[in-house]
Amino acid sequence: MSSILGTYARKDISFEEGKGSYLFTNTGEKYLDFVQGIATNILGHCHEHLVNTIKKQSEKLWHTSNAFVISEQEKLAKRLTEKTFADFVCFQNSGTEATEASIKIARKYFHKIGKPEKNRIITFQGAFHGRTLAALFAANNPKHTEGFGPKVDGFDQVPFADHEAIKKAISDKTAAIMIETIMGEGGIKTVPDYCLKGLRDLCDEKNILLILDEVQSAYRTGDFFAFEKSGIVPDIVPIAKGIGGGFPLGACLVTKKVSAGMTPGTHGSTFGGNPLAMAVGNAVLDVILEKDFFKSVKKKGEYFDQGLKKIKEKHPNIIEEIRGVGLIKGLKMSVNNDEFIKRLMSHKMLTIKASENVIRLFPPLTVKNEELDESFTKMEKVCQEMS
Ligand SMILES: *Cc1c(COP(=O)(O)O)cnc(C)c1O
Repeated sequence: MSSILGTYARKDISFEEGKGSYLFTNTGEKYLDFVQGIATNILGHCHEHLVNTIKKQSEKLWHTSNAFVISEQEKLAKRLTEKTFADFVCFQNSGTEATEASIKIARKYFHKIGKPEKNRIITFQGAFHGRTLAALFAANNPKHTEGFGPKVDGFDQVPFADHEAIKKAISDKTAAIMIETIMGEGGIKTVPDYCLKGLRDLCDEKNILLILDEVQSAYRTGDFFAFEKSGIVPDIVPIAKGIGGGFPLGACLVTKKVSAGMTPGTHGSTFGGNPLAMAVGNAVLDVILEKDFFKSVKKKGEYFDQGLKKIKEKHPNIIEEIRGVGLIKGLKMSVNNDEFIKRLMSHKMLTIKASENVIRLFPPLTVKNEELDESFTKMEKVCQEMS
């Protein structure tokens, strides 16, 4: 019997090694891995530059403290702010900490400008913002919150895509609207650009902040963030998962205006932004910022789309809808998603489910077209089996 607290329904398989798009078991079986640590190993397993970076940094310095200047942290923050909407970054260890930091920053801003009553956040049904108490009750998914009361107050939830409900939920106490640009656990549902624009306008009109949770979508769409193609500028953006390439790393990005309340002592983390994590975060950016890298992600995303569409056209009774952007994709299934995932696994391909009977596909950004082809062959086989 395992001595690990039973909070996971694990698959009975374990991996010894990973390389790029593949995972290997201890008996040498090879799996095409489109889970990639749930969208974390954004450059695949054991990317050479990441391996070398962590080797080098581990011999130099692991951890100091945020009581001192951390040069790799300064560097990563500078790069992220130079390339994105943000003026400041605060580093965390996970996605849920990044979303919590976002909530704190939003509330503190209104406290700072003399409107402390503005402290409530509008969130959406089906959302996922992490597993700490505030993040749990922000998303308010009964499957996750049951038994963990008392409820953390301060969130007003509305149905996804219900524009009227959003308007109705806004009051003098609303500080922010928080939404995932691409709802991940909720089933890879992309907020359309016109909705993002509408949200931005609404926030401006009502003097509230827009928090876009890009913990799952950052770096994956062929831009830094999924919201970029809409042209809007959010106020606060929590990111994590892929930005550490598989190393635990989260961050909260914020504009200068909204950062006003976050003065020394208002927030902190023992590990957040330590030299080891920062070295890896910088190494991920080294690769992503290479010329035409994002362009290649868009191209591969397009290629992936075309292939998935062909399978869907052949098997309209199996695949209902293709969702997602770039290399964050979801298939809404007509057949049971668990069954499809199980069968794919027997064909040596790993995927992971989401709500709404969706299967999520997270190829690494370094994926080759031949590997995408291989995934099409495997998915095609399972479609045939289930037809
Ligand atoms: C995974 C996820 C989180 C939580 O991240 P953890 O690193 O698991 O704490 C928060 N928001 C979104 C959108 C996520 O996908």
